[in-house]
Amino acid sequence: MGNMVTFTCRKCGHEQNILWGAGLFSYNDEEFADDIKDPEMSREIRLILQQDGAVVESIMESGYYCPLCYIWHDFLYFSIVTEHLVHTPIYQCEKCHNTLQLVPFENYADYPWKCQKCSSCNDVITSVSRWF
Ligand SMILES: [Zn+2]
Ligand SMILES: [Zn+2]
Repeated sequence: MGNMVTFTCRKCGHEQNILWGAGLFSYNDEEFADDIKDPEMSREIRLILQQDGAVVESIMESGYYCPLCYIWHDFLYFSIVTEHLVHTPIYQCEKCHNTLQLVPFENYADYPWKCQKCSSCNDVITSVSRWF
């Protein structure tokens, strides 16, 4: 369950959907690593979960954006708390390799959006819907 923001480019009509929220997937701590598609990240999570007292605190879809190219994505956000550290995933922009910034749903309108088709920036209509 969560929120979906649809960005629609006013110039060319290109649409992008970004999801926030927790899906219907159920998990226990060990299965969680199996669900991660990126093998490197999956391996890393497995190692973290082996540490003493590791607890998965949250898993959810979240919007991310690149502060340099204004490209948006939704990726899995999670936090794993161990005795000394909190681990959260780091995603990189496929264009400029800058670290993508996590955007809380409440703040989606605060950040620029760039159309991936026609490159117009912030000429956009946004609408919000719920997903289940
Ligand atoms: Zn970028
Ligand atoms: Zn466009």
